[in-house]
Amino acid sequence: MTATEPDRLTAATRPAPAPLDAASFRAAGHALIDWIADYRETIGERAVAQLPEPGAIRAMLPSRAPEFGEPIARILGDLDDIVMKGVVHWQHPGWFAYFPANSSYESILGELASAGLGVQGMLWSTSPACTEVETHMLDWLVHAMGLPERFLSTSDGGGVLQDTASSAALVAIVAARERATKFASDAHGLAAGARAVCCYTSDQAHSSIEKSARIAGIGREFVRLIPVDDQGRMRVDLLAAEVKRDRALGHLPAFVSATVGTTGVNAVDSVPEIAEVCRAHDLWLHVDAAMSGTAALCEEFRFVNAGAAHADSWCFNPHKWMPVNFDCDVLWVADRAALVRALSVLPEYLRNAATESGKVIDYRDWQVPLGRRFRALKLWFVLRSFGLEGLRALVRSHVAMARRLADRVHAYPSLELVTEPALNLVAIAHKGGDESTQRLIDAVNRDGRFFVSHCRFHGRLVLRVSIGALATTPAHVEAFTEHLLAEAARA
Ligand SMILES: *Cc1c(COP(=O)(O)O)cnc(C)c1O
Repeated sequence: MTATEPDRLTAATRPAPAPLDAASFRAAGHALIDWIADYRETIGERAVAQLPEPGAIRAMLPSRAPEFGEPIARILGDLDDIVMKGVVHWQHPGWFAYFPANSSYESILGELASAGLGVQGMLWSTSPACTEVETHMLDWLVHAMGLPERFLSTSDGGGVLQDTASSAALVAIVAARERATKFASDAHGLAAGARAVCCYTSDQAHSSIEKSARIAGIGREFVRLIPVDDQGRMRVDLLAAEVKRDRALGHLPAFVSATVGTTGVNAVDSVPEIAEVCRAHDLWLHVDAAMSGTAALCEEFRFVNAGAAHADSWCFNPHKWMPVNFDCDVLWVADRAALVRALSVLPEYLRNAATESGKVIDYRDWQVPLGRRFRALKLWFVLRSFGLEGLRALVRSHVAMARRLADRVHAYPSLELVTEPALNLVAIAHKGGDESTQRLIDAVNRDGRFFVSHCRFHGRLVLRVSIGALATTPAHVEAFTEHLLAEAARA
């Protein structure tokens, strides 16, 4: 028995545990807010990503759940004593790995308000504000990001919050499959047709596209991964050829996912050209702008919207670059009827007058799960407290920092830029080859002040520097640059 497991004798004489009352909740809540603020104020002093031995965190936890309630103060204490021993500091100013996962104070408050209300917004009638604030925020964003009006709720389209870009891709693929099979697979599933439904995306697209297609019953074989050019953009000529080939083979091409900001090197597909292929062959065009969509807040980066007017669906993740804490993905569709028809099942117990009136949105029909939380609150808090100008300033500052880093790397003899950075991601290789690049990645990360990750591009190992954390300032990127160049000389 470990020290934290209750002794059965004393446990038996303990008073029955009571849930927190309002007064204790206030005290504990204030303490937790202080704890979060203390963490954030001092986060820069920590090593960004120092991993414990596998199993080390579990070894500190009792082997069984406690029989009797423990004081909340003790649980809060274990945040420091146990949890913090195995946390990677994604909010650290030296966070340059993967992509940012910004969690601003503003969004934390929105998240807290959502948990406090604890509503289920599956139907408009189960909490009207949950649906209407969401619809309204996504209309705000259409205007703020200069996206086409067909995505507005007042048109035939509209927006919905999904948990992730992966879920957005899944519902888009299901809708595309239903549209292509004229809803035959809705009734008959995989037995619907002799024709194989085909999806297309680039070989640099996020793995969630292939995963979603497989979940939707489209075999890996029929997810065509189209090669990319030297900047990482889908080869549209090869896409067109592949679609024609599939048609000639008697298959049913249905769905194309273009990427605006690939996960590897942040390449931006030529959506307008891809849209032409989609139009010619009646394919559903999905745009995955998970990472880079936020840039559309700024006029000068609206190239990320190119071709959006022809997209059937378009998604981005405020939980990456826009400072809304995970999870929050925005999905817009041009024709909401296609999505709803693909996903709607109406059991008797959910029938209600508002739904029958046709005057309301029931978001359960726009997603995989039934239940949904009040996710729009954190978006509302962030949009209002930052203001669009505040958000634009954040995006611009990150792009400027990335530009400066890219210039220094470009001028440095033993390093090169693998692609020309479009926004806030800098893809770097050591001219000495993959082994030198690997040594450089290891050396950069060993220091503890910074954390970068890697990808492969046209077979080559790449050190990725993704600049987008809320806490990152030019001084941090300057210090990182000096560190990188010094290590490059040794790699
Ligand atoms: C991060 C990312 C995803 C996956 O995001 P989730 O929201 O975690 O599913 C998909 N596509 C791109 C381009 C991404 O950058």
